Amino acid sequence: MSELAARLRSIRNRLASLEALARDDQAAAAHRLAAELTRELNQALEAAAGPEGHADARGAGEPQAPRDPIEKCPRCTLRSFTFQDGTIRERAAEPGRYEAQYLCMSCGHEAWRRL
Ligand SMILES: [Zn+2]
Repeated sequence: MSELAARLRSIRNRLASLEALARDDQAAAAHRLAAELTRELNQALEAAAGPEGHADARGAGEPQAPRDPIEKCPRCTLRSFTFQDGTIRERAAEPGRYEAQYLCMSCGHEAWRRL
């Protein structure tokens, strides 16, 4: 893994910590910023990995968008909890596993979900 990729990974891990610190209603902007930065970092990490595409011994577990991008919202129970494209990231607690941000189009609830 290149030095750049290692650096980007470090930033992404800290972003995950930032997101964990942010509280639901008080920090909607922080959520959005974290999602935005995660998206940018994921793109940079892809570029840093190079055309050989060696995903550093992660196996076949490349992150993929969920087959069904809309789920039932855990807060308002309406079926409008929507996968946010470009927010997929590795779970800090479970290396090799991925999660993505979801946003409820009905009540605005935001959360990270395991993929
Ligand atoms: Zn909702």
